[in-house]
Amino acid sequence: MDFSIPMKRIVPLAVATVIVVVATVWFMFGRDRPTQYMVAAANPYASGAGAAILAKGGSAVDAAIAVQAVLTLVEPESSGLAGGAFMLHWASASEKLDAYDGRETAPAGATQDMFLDDGKAPLGIVPAILSGRSVGSPGAVAMLAMAHKEHGKLPWADLFQPAIELSENGFVVSQKLAAAVARDPALAMMPASQDYFFTKDTSGKRIPVAAGSVLKNPLLAETLKVIAAEGIDGFYKGAVAQSIVDAVHAAPSRPGTLSMSDLAKYEAKHREPLCRPYRVYVVCTMPPPTSGGIATLQVLGILSHFYMDQIEPMSLTAVHFIAEAEKLAYADRGKFLGDPDFVHVPVEALLDKDYLAGRAALIDPSASIGKAEPGKLNDKAADNQGTNVSVAFPSTSHFSIVDADGDVVSMTTSVEAPFGSHLMAGGMILNNQLTDFSFVPTEDGRPVANAVAPNKRPMSAMDPVIVFNKTGDFYAALGSPGGSRIIGYVTQSLVAVLDWKMSMQEAFDQPRFLDRNGPLEIEEGTSLEKLTRDLTQLGHEVKPTKINSGLHGIRVTPEGLDGGADPRREGKVISGFVER
Ligand code: GLU
Repeated sequence: MDFSIPMKRIVPLAVATVIVVVATVWFMFGRDRPTQYMVAAANPYASGAGAAILAKGGSAVDAAIAVQAVLTLVEPESSGLAGGAFMLHWASASEKLDAYDGRETAPAGATQDMFLDDGKAPLGIVPAILSGRSVGSPGAVAMLAMAHKEHGKLPWADLFQPAIELSENGFVVSQKLAAAVARDPALAMMPASQDYFFTKDTSGKRIPVAAGSVLKNPLLAETLKVIAAEGIDGFYKGAVAQSIVDAVHAAPSRPGTLSMSDLAKYEAKHREPLCRPYRVYVVCTMPPPTSGGIATLQVLGILSHFYMDQIEPMSLTAVHFIAEAEKLAYADRGKFLGDPDFVHVPVEALLDKDYLAGRAALIDPSASIGKAEPGKLNDKAADNQGTNVSVAFPSTSHFSIVDADGDVVSMTTSVEAPFGSHLMAGGMILNNQLTDFSFVPTEDGRPVANAVAPNKRPMSAMDPVIVFNKTGDFYAALGSPGGSRIIGYVTQSLVAVLDWKMSMQEAFDQPRFLDRNGPLEIEEGTSLEKLTRDLTQLGHEVKPTKINSGLHGIRVTPEGLDGGADPRREGKVISGFVER
């Protein structure tokens, strides 16, 4: 048999081969290839506004501004432009990770005893929240403007357009917003909130805004137009600032001291992100004044001494180890955390490998530690601090964004309690973030790191995270609301994604459990309840709890971006492609 190719066929074959090779190379590298973007946020309007910006070629920061502006309108119970936020940003081309601090600050007139009744006993949390004293200088606008200056692509003014249109034309009130209004009688005590969130029926009876109804917010539209046109001065100076100050001074109970000069002086800050290895990954978090990042890295640092990847997800052993690691981290959180510009926060000591190995050694696989004590850091200033006493109610919002260039935003944003202080100005809810300070400034004569001071930022639990893989490329972004429970929500999800290789959605769908160094809270009505007897035998005080996490995250997979939205809230993941 003759297998040789006749000469007259060789030429066309060679030509065909060259064409195929050239076409393949062009297809892979030469043509405009679609690149994926994604937004995971707490409300479909907000995700939609962010996605529209990304589809126009906007950056992750551009989209974040649009998302935050829309959330101010559609999820006012959780976050807003008159609140504060923390943002991690990954710039893929320059391989630079930025941590932005847009936390509220106490006014110059704040005093150590402003949350004490007659200067003695701590005020109840509700009267403290529903006051002018709880309102800090908002940080979200200044922080977003700072990030936009560094990473924005589209004009600042354009980013407010979706929220302006929705405020003017109205949005459909969601179940979550309607339920939040209906269960909050205090909203009707504040004149502006009463006007906005309630209507009157034919008999003149006040009724809370209903799910499915259309709500417009013309005052917010005006505020947004001023911010769009004038930048941060439109918020921190002039008529918008004056309306915030007036609302704080006119609070029906305990007016605050927030002044025009406090607002004009507000500064967002760059902080040094905190990054530590976990398995083959590097997990990066937000440093103080939030406790979220340190606590998460402590839990992971402790868990790195156990083979979590070989322990069955959500098994008795898995829950026990994670809960015990959390107890230890929450114990440290209660003592050592505060605003690093005011108090010494022993960040390195708390994340020290040997220190965490010692903390891990306290975990007994067959018995709970019960109540964990804060560690001894051999740091005189830090070891001599009293315990922080503050309560955070769950509101807040987290969103994660990846743009078509591969830049990433992981941002947690809050007005603190649902509807913040319940005061409104310029169509915005004013935060009550200052109740995140410890109401009591000393414990047994020892200073408390998170005590109130003028111009100080209250400790937070907010915990935006960005994870990198072993080649140093972006791997995942996530975070959650939930007050002090945020740390538990975020760490459980990180273990699910990094150790148990779950998709974002699977990780967020899991029944939740967490231990804030008290009872072991397990999500009520879930399969976790089956572990109650065994957990109790290990010495845990098991407490079924209604869980209100709101995790939103994005992960990179070989098939493309993989997003997740917590089924406990109303979030939505939206993705699309742009030609590059
Ligand atoms: N104010 C809280 C904090 O900064 C957040 C409240 C919440 O997540 O609901 O930690």
